Amino acid sequence: MAIDLKDFVRDIPDYPTPGIIFKDITPLLQNAEALRQSIAEMVAITKQYDITHIAGIESRGFIFGTALAAELGLGFLPIRKPGKLPSKTFAEAYDLEYGSDKLEIHVDASAAGERVLLIDDLIATGGTAEAAVKLIRHTGAEVMACCVLIELEFLNGGEKMHGVPLHSLIKVS
Ligand code: AMP
Repeated sequence: MAIDLKDFVRDIPDYPTPGIIFKDITPLLQNAEALRQSIAEMVAITKQYDITHIAGIESRGFIFGTALAAELGLGFLPIRKPGKLPSKTFAEAYDLEYGSDKLEIHVDASAAGERVLLIDDLIATGGTAEAAVKLIRHTGAEVMACCVLIELEFLNGGEKMHGVPLHSLIKVS
């Protein structure tokens, strides 16, 4: 019997700043069945595409991205906060629901002819995912789709994806 993944996401009001309702996924991570089902649903989505690599956005995108990559026998590409990747990087700045930030990818993380699926825990305004799509494209690879655990639908983040299909397991309207 499938469980309702929504039941494992906790709302934390006014975190990290007043007015933001933070979606806390730690209850989902600590529940074996909810975690297993989340990865299984992401596996099913990924199998719709001919993917060579999974890219995950630091840090919660790493949790789902590496599990998914290992499950599918694919390599994992970390997209990280500035100054964390040790070799030569591409960088993209973006606006967040709260504040602004920058993301980086190694220039040799992927290459032309490779087909990448992007993973994060949550899409809000879409700025983070948009920057990640640009970074992957800088390496020459193609972004086939983006998959997130939670989509805040009222913020229309999917519209920023430059034609990349967005899949979400939990939709918040
Ligand atoms: P955005 O760029 O606005 O789509 O924001 C997405 C990124 O910020 C993701 O990496 C999320 O982990 C984080 N984030 C933004 N808003 C929230 C929220 N309400 N609850 C939890 N994480 C959030």
